[in-house]
Amino acid sequence: MGRLSNEKAILIKRLVNLELGYFLEHDRYVSEDGQVDITKIATDLGFDVYSLDLSKEKVKGLMYVNKKRGRESRFIAVHDEHSIQSKRFIIAHELGHYFLEKGKNESEYISAAKYTDNQSAEDENELAADYFAGYSLIPDHKFNELMESLKKQCNGGDVNIERKIEAVSNTFNVSSRVARLYIEVREGTAA
Ligand SMILES: [Zn+2]
Repeated sequence: MGRLSNEKAILIKRLVNLELGYFLEHDRYVSEDGQVDITKIATDLGFDVYSLDLSKEKVKGLMYVNKKRGRESRFIAVHDEHSIQSKRFIIAHELGHYFLEKGKNESEYISAAKYTDNQSAEDENELAADYFAGYSLIPDHKFNELMESLKKQCNGGDVNIERKIEAVSNTFNVSSRVARLYIEVREGTAA
């Protein structure tokens, strides 16, 4: 499993704060128990979001941007066979590509989430989009609250990493892989 350096992870964290900070601090987009309404964020950013049968396209999801004719139109589609958790991640990941590649001058582009993304094709752009997704789905203040309550449950002692991963994964509806990446960067323990 690939990792980004801590410096790069921090840059991506800044990008998320810059682009999504407003949303992640508002109750309208984050439920009381911590779940980020990533579809609503994407919609309010001007994306149409669809859940479609993408089996023919052989992708988990895709993002399309068209800047022709003066106005930018954009959409994100996710393959409808995926779980809610996967769909949330795909939407956040594609938003990551959008903001990471925003400076591009092309008037039209497509980013596709292929089935190989998590395995072999772990180039830095994919990892960067994954980190972006993690930061987008785990708001800082909710993470801190969760860590506080875990600590209390352990009578102020150290909470082991596996327990944290499980709690983060359940609370924010992200995979344990994403939970682990997030916790390691937050705690400065990334290898
Ligand atoms: Zn991607």
